[in-house]
Amino acid sequence: MNIIKHYTNGEVTIVWQPDVCIHSAKCFHGLPEVFDPREKPWIRPEGATTEQIVAQVERCPSGALSYFYNADEQA
Ligand code: SF4
Repeated sequence: MNIIKHYTNGEVTIVWQPDVCIHSAKCFHGLPEVFDPREKPWIRPEGATTEQIVAQVERCPSGALSYFYNADEQA
């Protein structure tokens, strides 16, 4: 089963697919204010700006992280 989790700050939604994650640790080294695997939930989108989140999500090497702007969803 393909698990998909959503985490939003109201402006952008982070999408995480745990089955795709290769645990490269890039996300929590790059933006530990948002990505912290010791916490539950491990993604806290209120920890950084939308711009910082988008930049970090784009560095995920596996594609496990993606995002969409919430305005797009309503359009
Ligand atoms: S950067 Fe992507 S692949 Fe690496 S740990 Fe984070 S979600 Fe997983």
